[in-house]
Amino acid sequence: GRLRLLVLFGGASAEHDVSCVTAAHVLAAADRTKYDLIPVGITRDGTWIRNDKAIAALAEATPALPDALEPAGTEVEPLLEIAGTDNRPTVVLPLLHGPHGEDGTVQGMLELAGVPYVGSGVLSSALCMDKAMTKVVAAQARIPQCRWIEFRAGTGERAQLVERTIAELGLPVFVKPANLGSSVGISKAHDAAELAEAIDLALRYDEVLVIEEAVTAREIEVAVLGNLTPEASVAGEIRPGSDFYDYADKYVNGAAALVIPADLPPEDSDRVRELAAATFSTLRCSGMARVDFFYEEGGRGWLLNEVNTIPGFTPASMYPKLWEASGLSYPALIDRLVELASQRHEIRS
Ligand code: ATP
Ligand code: MG
Ligand code: MG
Ligand code: MG
Repeated sequence: GRLRLLVLFGGASAEHDVSCVTAAHVLAAADRTKYDLIPVGITRDGTWIRNDKAIAALAEATPALPDALEPAGTEVEPLLEIAGTDNRPTVVLPLLHGPHGEDGTVQGMLELAGVPYVGSGVLSSALCMDKAMTKVVAAQARIPQCRWIEFRAGTGERAQLVERTIAELGLPVFVKPANLGSSVGISKAHDAAELAEAIDLALRYDEVLVIEEAVTAREIEVAVLGNLTPEASVAGEIRPGSDFYDYADKYVNGAAALVIPADLPPEDSDRVRELAAATFSTLRCSGMARVDFFYEEGGRGWLLNEVNTIPGFTPASMYPKLWEASGLSYPALIDRLVELASQRHEIRS
């Protein structure tokens, strides 16, 4: 029979909407002859909803509309829903971005349920979600990075942090909540007053902050696919439409341009693909990850920015586009991820 492919989307994070859009596209593209698609939406307050209406809604609405997929339907008990009522093989595809989805929490629940799932496991998800921990582990493996400092709420006055930041990193700097994505809560600060505001904003999202020197560089991303022997796609470049690649640029105005493949000398392109695969393995990723770099031309060259274990996954997103340019279509990429999930599960159990 067909495999149950349980698509998990929505979630309690600031990236809820983005996740709904992604799920709409995946549900529309996945091969119905292979999969019995089971859409399960998670509401903003964490309730799991079996979204049987989602498939029908997709036939009418354009998948670009997150409203069509807002979790609606019957409330379900997560573990029972995952296990299913018969003993049919199931794979879970978590399309959840940010905390309580991309950070190892849902992955831990899926481990306990004993069900294969797409993407990284508990440790890797948690490591990559936390920008400070990503940097610490990557530094240990000598992966080049920009200069940065960490701050934890309650460990000092804001005025001191402003002073320390300027002394150690200079200006401008980027201030980020340690555990988030889609540029939510991130600002670029050009002076002490902006820095104080940026710190307050980021602290609304997380108790740990990462402050980085602002590098003047091109933004290059690589899609990595695989388990123990990961493959790297061609490199792609983001050309932000504004001062940096912010939330509006990603999802509202769409002013950013994606250049695929990135225009790079072959040796630099080889190098970044190698670095991306090494970063994936160092951080114990599996299945997929988008590994993002800064390319400081004439300076330090490649610097790791971050790793996204559940990257944007609409057909217009960088991760699927990089694989398409590397010869793997969107539906074929979904098949490959499901295969990798099953293989990893077999090896581990
Ligand atoms: P994603 O949606 O990819 O998960 P994110 O929310 O995790 O993004 P980052 O990638 O860390 O956020 O930062 C968002 C954007 O801010 C980057 O794509 C880049 O345009 C800019 N940026 C971040 N850090 C720096 C830096 N140190 N120097 C220069 N630009 C930066
Ligand atoms: Mg990110
Ligand atoms: Mg992200
Ligand atoms: Mg990013």
